[in-house]
Amino acid sequence: MYPALSLYIDGQFLGSEGRASEPVFDPASGEVLADLPHASAADLDTAIDAATRAFPAWKAMSAYERYRLLRRAADLLRDRKDHIARVMTREQGKVLAEAAAEVATSADILDWYAEEGRRAYGRVVPGRTAGTRQIVLMEPVGPCAAFTPWNFPALTPIRKIGGALGAGCTLILKAAEETPGTALELVRALHDAGVPAGVVNLVFGVPAQVSEHLIAAKAIRKITFTGSTAVGKHLMKLAADTAKRTTMELGGNAPVIVFPDADLDKAVNTLGFFKFRNAGQVCVSPQRFFVHESLYDRFLDGFTEKAKAVKVGNGLAEGTGMGPLANPRRIEAMERVVADAAARGAKVAAGGERIGNQGNFFQPTVLTDLADDTLSLSQEIFGPVVPVVPFASTDEVLKRANSVDMGLASYAFTRSIDTAQMVSEALESGMVGINTLAISTPETPFGGIKESGHGSEGGIEGLQAYLNVKFVAQA
Ligand code: NAD
Repeated sequence: MYPALSLYIDGQFLGSEGRASEPVFDPASGEVLADLPHASAADLDTAIDAATRAFPAWKAMSAYERYRLLRRAADLLRDRKDHIARVMTREQGKVLAEAAAEVATSADILDWYAEEGRRAYGRVVPGRTAGTRQIVLMEPVGPCAAFTPWNFPALTPIRKIGGALGAGCTLILKAAEETPGTALELVRALHDAGVPAGVVNLVFGVPAQVSEHLIAAKAIRKITFTGSTAVGKHLMKLAADTAKRTTMELGGNAPVIVFPDADLDKAVNTLGFFKFRNAGQVCVSPQRFFVHESLYDRFLDGFTEKAKAVKVGNGLAEGTGMGPLANPRRIEAMERVVADAAARGAKVAAGGERIGNQGNFFQPTVLTDLADDTLSLSQEIFGPVVPVVPFASTDEVLKRANSVDMGLASYAFTRSIDTAQMVSEALESGMVGINTLAISTPETPFGGIKESGHGSEGGIEGLQAYLNVKFVAQA
């Protein structure tokens, strides 16, 4: 059921013949799933040419026609949800139910952009003199290049595909080499829905080489990237050479503040569920847990119990609560974080170790008694390890919450409307969840500030990211 892998350029699915390639692994077993072809420099040039040639007709197509094609592709994703979810779980590791929910949400995101493309309104501004017209037009930016990571193999590509295509742009997507099967199924749905050749293209390769090649091309007018802050900064520098627009969804390091008036059960249950989703490999994952000292012991007992109860196993197996980490690099990162904490006198309240030596399994882990400069409080963890820290005063906790370079998501639990309002203004992040961690929907903007990047995906902002503003004065 895992698909034979290919590139998709100018409406053609292109296999490994004569191309360099790399194996794709199942993170639950280490088994090789398939061979992934790499795009050659000539393939990348063909993709740039295809996206450039397809752009005028796609831009000129009525927004209603584009809407119909994208809606059809969204329906195909729904029809194929079970298959795509299995492909995703095999290559990425996440629990099958999470993969299925991700495909369903991806279809909804495509619907949203299909519809929003019909509302790419400009405006008419009253002229200063009689008989003059001042018109603001919204026009697609042009051919775009997108780079997406392995943690949400459907969601991150579809946000970029939907935004670009909905606005009338064409796109070359370099999806993650570790999770190519899901990306291929997304473009297959667009192909089968009748999206014309060249409008969307899918390539793989050595990330640094592909991004350098695509970003250097003058024909590419915008780049969009989701991944680590270090890589995002590098791509922004490359984009500067040709003054391209950028959208950057980079790393997070989300604080969670549990205030003394919080609904404790709700906090424990919500965090117990969300923290271990996708094994913590989520950019908006709650990471640094700050719990008021009056609730600390009860919170820690409740949350530790939740962590210990998570059933770790193959994401395809019935009853699994958390799958393997996506790649061996994450295991090494978790071991580094736990060792660093232990070396500075921290205690391990749950987990702390790799499980077995086949597949990338790691125990849900809770750390306490932490020094402020431990890796777990200063760096993005991106895995199932949770530092829990007590706090005494609101001023102190806000200072600590805002002390990192990242500013993607923040969370707070409180019953007070005053605290909710105060904290939603005081936290330095692009998104704030109060008594909830559900901050990512098709209709709402998703994006960070500080070193977590810039620009939004989702919401009306997600479409605007692919539109140029043109002013026309007419006398
Ligand atoms: P990484 O920085 O090597 O890669 C992150 C992603 O960027 C991958 O998909 C990779 O293919 C891509 N990439 C790397 N170099 C690139 C380049 N020069 N041009 C274009 N794309 C490039 O790290 P990793 O080991 O895969 O993941 C580690 C860290 O990345 C995590 O700790 C996390 O901070 C971050 N990350 C963030 C997200 C997110 O959703 N924001 C997703 C995945 C990884």
